[in-house]
Amino acid sequence: MSIYKITAYLQKWNIKEVHSENRLLDNLFGRYQVDFVETVNYNCVGCEGACDLCEQCVTYSYGYNVTLLTQSEPGDPSGSVGEYNGGSGGSSSNNNDNQDECPEGQVKSPETGNCVPIEQACPDTDKTYNENTERCECIGSNKIQNSAGKCVENPCRYINLQIQNPNYTQQSNELEGKTGLKKETGYKQNKDGSQVPLNDTNNGHSLDIPVNTNTVGYMHTHLNDFLTGKIDPKTGDEELKKPIKIFSPADILKFLQIVKNSKYNGVPTHLVYGTVIASTGNYTLRFTGNPDDIIGLGSANSYRADYKKYFEEDYKNNKEKAFLHFLKDKIGINGINLYRIRDNGDIEKKIIKENGRVKTSNCE
Ligand SMILES: [Zn+2]
Repeated sequence: MSIYKITAYLQKWNIKEVHSENRLLDNLFGRYQVDFVETVNYNCVGCEGACDLCEQCVTYSYGYNVTLLTQSEPGDPSGSVGEYNGGSGGSSSNNNDNQDECPEGQVKSPETGNCVPIEQACPDTDKTYNENTERCECIGSNKIQNSAGKCVENPCRYINLQIQNPNYTQQSNELEGKTGLKKETGYKQNKDGSQVPLNDTNNGHSLDIPVNTNTVGYMHTHLNDFLTGKIDPKTGDEELKKPIKIFSPADILKFLQIVKNSKYNGVPTHLVYGTVIASTGNYTLRFTGNPDDIIGLGSANSYRADYKKYFEEDYKNNKEKAFLHFLKDKIGINGINLYRIRDNGDIEKKIIKENGRVKTSNCE
């Protein structure tokens, strides 16, 4: 997560005007936290006589830090913190939150920018201040910050456990041998760990994934390019099918449906998965956001035209890039994470950087 502190003018707690050199993303309004900082200086302390003997008896100042939460991913070092201190009103502005140096025993809170005792630097009880990185970090090696700054289970750990679990690898190995078929194969996993074969639909072009409250996840193949046997009447050539070897809109929707169910069915959200197995690489999705945010989705069909455009025009020849941009622009739900599982078992997290390129980082 990148935190941008910006100067803003507020009226009745609403942002009226933003002054910032940072390029702000669209739809950012509404995703802000405002921390008011009030300072009252009693200038006449120690004065003899009336206050008006002092230049100014009381200096009252206030400023505010507006923290906008962007959609960039946690742990992205390119998400540098641009600091713009709160605007100020009142008779003067003498907040000390502009100081780089804090008094002995205090640190600058990454959350508010103010100098505070180290134990108060991170208001969230599940975070601790790291003096080396000068950031608030989640307590516990299995936790990471999600895009909203909340500490959640690290999906890397659970993918790693999954690909070592024989209940899973037996089927995933089997599917790896079936990407050369002319129809997709797959399994869905129930809460008890059992893997249930999926039935194909649409003449084998896709699989029916009957999600219910017992479902934890699914895995299925996306096929190699293959000749369909149909002859194009115009060219006389046999039709070559080139399936997209990463999640389809229907796959994304199924995954999100399982995530949504996890609010009620006792399946831990961090265990929910959707996996595509293809000869060019295996991909898996994990969710680290808030299941309540999964709203306003269309049907799989309603995404078809955009999906095609992203993969065949806008980001042709780069399916990861096409997929991640599609996810961000068209699905628009925070917390869907894409991972690639390499043949040697290495797990890579894929995100799009602010410049729109794909960033690959290794799961530790
Ligand atoms: Zn699929």
